[in-house]
Amino acid sequence: MRTAVIGYPRVGKDRELKFASEKYFKNEISEKEIQDIAKNLRKEHIELQKDSGIDFISVNDFSFYDNMLDVATLFNIIPDRYRQLGLSDLDTYFAMARGYQGEKGNVKALAMKKWFNTNYHYIVPEIDDDTQIKLVGTKPFDEYKEAVDCKVDAKVCIIGPFTFLKLAKFTGSKGIADFEQDLAKEYVNYLSKLSETGVEWAEFDEPYLVKDLSLDDIKLFERLYRVLLAGKSGVKVLLQTYFGDVRDIYNLLIQLDFDGIGLDFFEGKQTKELVKKNGFPGDKLLFAGVVCGKNIWKNNYAKSLEIIKELKVIAGEDNIVVNTSCSLLHVPYTLESEQKIPAEYKMHFAFAKEKLAELKDIAELASEKDGKVVISSGKYTANAELFKSRPDSADENVRKRVAGIKKSDYDRLPKFKEREEIQKDKLGLPLFPTTTIGSFPQTADVRKNRQDYRKGNISKEQYIAFNRDKIKKCIEFQEEIGLDVLVHGEYERNDMVEYFGEHLAGYVFTEKAWVQSYGTRCVKPPIIWGDVSRKEPITVEWSKYAKSCTNKPMKGMLTGPVTILNWSFPREDISIKESILQLALAIRDEVLDLEKAGIEIIQIDEAALREKLPLRKSDWYTDYLDFAIPAFRLVHSGVKPETQIHTHMCYSEFTDIIPVIDAMGADVITFEASRSDLQILDSLKANNFKTEVGPGVYDIHSPRVPSVEEIVDALGKMRDRIDDKKLWINPDCGLKTRGVPETKASLINLVKAAQVVRG
Ligand code: GLN
Ligand code: ZN
Repeated sequence: MRTAVIGYPRVGKDRELKFASEKYFKNEISEKEIQDIAKNLRKEHIELQKDSGIDFISVNDFSFYDNMLDVATLFNIIPDRYRQLGLSDLDTYFAMARGYQGEKGNVKALAMKKWFNTNYHYIVPEIDDDTQIKLVGTKPFDEYKEAVDCKVDAKVCIIGPFTFLKLAKFTGSKGIADFEQDLAKEYVNYLSKLSETGVEWAEFDEPYLVKDLSLDDIKLFERLYRVLLAGKSGVKVLLQTYFGDVRDIYNLLIQLDFDGIGLDFFEGKQTKELVKKNGFPGDKLLFAGVVCGKNIWKNNYAKSLEIIKELKVIAGEDNIVVNTSCSLLHVPYTLESEQKIPAEYKMHFAFAKEKLAELKDIAELASEKDGKVVISSGKYTANAELFKSRPDSADENVRKRVAGIKKSDYDRLPKFKEREEIQKDKLGLPLFPTTTIGSFPQTADVRKNRQDYRKGNISKEQYIAFNRDKIKKCIEFQEEIGLDVLVHGEYERNDMVEYFGEHLAGYVFTEKAWVQSYGTRCVKPPIIWGDVSRKEPITVEWSKYAKSCTNKPMKGMLTGPVTILNWSFPREDISIKESILQLALAIRDEVLDLEKAGIEIIQIDEAALREKLPLRKSDWYTDYLDFAIPAFRLVHSGVKPETQIHTHMCYSEFTDIIPVIDAMGADVITFEASRSDLQILDSLKANNFKTEVGPGVYDIHSPRVPSVEEIVDALGKMRDRIDDKKLWINPDCGLKTRGVPETKASLINLVKAAQVVRG
């Protein structure tokens, strides 16, 4: 049986691409140098997959920033404002991704959104009425040739036209219908170019197919692919889906002239049933995604083989390819980089490289004749043993506490309106209060202080003294420029989830398990191993100290249970609901301790709440919101009426769940609004949103400094839609990834803008 990989991580196991890109942005290395580094990484990843015996290896899974942006540039979908900068191709590309501010002009970046239900972000391509769709790039062909140099006949993957069009933004009066033919034609061109290059297999990724599809969607898909498949030019076409099942379109997929279809058997609740019920044509390959591309647990071979056994009967042994469930982009590189995880834990994990071996094992085991041989195989028994030998992870106290949660524990009293008045009286803030989202720039010295402490080079006292000094200066700066609600700057945190995880029982940590979040930003999700509880107060000392430095209100900063869970690698042996409640109780203890320490405003970040909303509407409540929202309420329901609870969310893609957000029971919510349109504000108004709001007035994901006029302008639009008494002024996210100079300049402008609108 053959094996395939949808995509491999690309930043490098030591984040080489990240560091090279950052140097390139600072003009420290040339374009040639960054191109060489990228090329070496691609080669390394291909060689690795080849040596692991993978039969279908992808190329063009590489990206300098994002694959949606790659498709846009491949097909000439470059808004004029970027073209007009007159930069090189690579710099134009980066200008779209990150914005540009320099001698050639001043433009914001394209919007960025979460990629389906992952923590990876894609760049939203913009199509305007004058866009001329045309195959102009050569990246996929070049990367195919690179693989040939490594003696690999790779499949060339690309995001398919359907997903691309569904996710693109149309800025003029034209829409999908006006561009679909042109795009389909250029994809055909692309296929013919692949054919000329000697490519055997082309992979089209269409994750959008796992969402709820309308009849129009299905028709659009069919029109696009009828054209595409009629122009195959002899290239075999694999339609790859992931992140769920394709229940709305399965029957059409199996009728169309695809040569292979990739299905997700891990997240696709109905995938197996679909195949069993509707069959699978004998003239196509079935790429069976049984090795999870999202989580880090070892594959359970018995389960995977069970699936494959059933598929064999339907599709025929030779037509099955053992596949990952989605790109391996979402898991870290390799366990080999982990020196500190105790062996009894480590043996339960598989990162990208280890997953390659799993694919191979499963393919081998599945090819053996059923029954005795499989059972006697060493690999099989070793794997089966693993699932019996999990070190104990249950904590009776935690289980009892969760079981004892009462219905009333989910409700905060008094009601919002009453609290709002009490808080206004107590805090005495001006109209349009200004604040930040929490973190201040994590400069090299801040990171070094943490590292030195971690390595034992400095004492705990030295570590604390350094951070206190930072906090003090940060507060002085905030006072000096006139912000109203201050923060301590989060200098003690490596990451908003890992930091909390480190203070919670039940977690396992990694050293180099980086996963790309967007562009050069990588995160290192900790692993939830067992039942979770708070070991000791986490942030209280820092907040108390910060509070002692100022008379202004100090905001305490916590990460909420839903985000901690969503940005960790979750357990698969207990339910998500159970895990979230455990986390909620742990953070609840911290909230109450902060309140006791005199912190009158507490922000509980739920940056990732929207992210794990199931892709299908029918699952939204039962599979997620029905327990995620109560869990958040549980965290803060114990505070006094005068304690103001804030929450923060990255991205404002919650137009469709506004009542749910209101029901979280926070007093203030801040969120991203600057890099997307203002549609969210209209929806807030339409839904009579009661929570006070701070829609971010500028984009912190880009180094660009917003001008006072720009912010005043944004505020004008906000005031048209939000009651003045409910509007807060803040950046759209934490400032930790930004440099000091741009942060200062931006915040000074933000406060000035507040003064202008107050005037
Ligand atoms: N309080 C966090 C910070 O400022 C929030 C980060 C986030 O939303 N991702 O860094
Ligand atoms: Zn944020």
